[in-house]
Amino acid sequence: MKIRADIAELLHAGLSDRAIARQLSVDAKKTVRPAREALGLPRSRPGRKPAATAEDLFWRRTQPVDGGHLLWTGARGAASQGSCPFLRHGGRVHTAYRIAFRLKHGREPEGRVTPTCARDGCVAPDHVEDRRLRERTQATFDAIFGAVSQ
Ligand SMILES: [Zn+2]
Repeated sequence: MKIRADIAELLHAGLSDRAIARQLSVDAKKTVRPAREALGLPRSRPGRKPAATAEDLFWRRTQPVDGGHLLWTGARGAASQGSCPFLRHGGRVHTAYRIAFRLKHGREPEGRVTPTCARDGCVAPDHVEDRRLRERTQATFDAIFGAVSQ
């Protein structure tokens, strides 16, 4: 059978048949369950929270482009707030920069996470840094330019 790509994606993300049916306006029994069986995925148990994490949602809302950039295709904050890319998960708002940082460094960022590249809307995990990394970069700069001026 042919499986719709959007259904397969949500199945792999761990959503229940009913949640997928609701989200995509399809029939849970006629469309989603056969797709799940064809993919060989276990039936989701009612009452369990979906396996989709903020990180899963992050990848679904990004688009890799040339130059190693990863463009955000999801929601952006108000222009007056810097148009910060964000998503909602588990009843909370997460900025895409913080998720990108966690993906790369495996720890919670310190202070604000800011992009290090000039590409608008880029949230590549390699292109964000937190306060600790900014301070380290500054120390490296100081060391280099300090050495040159002496
Ligand atoms: Zn970038």
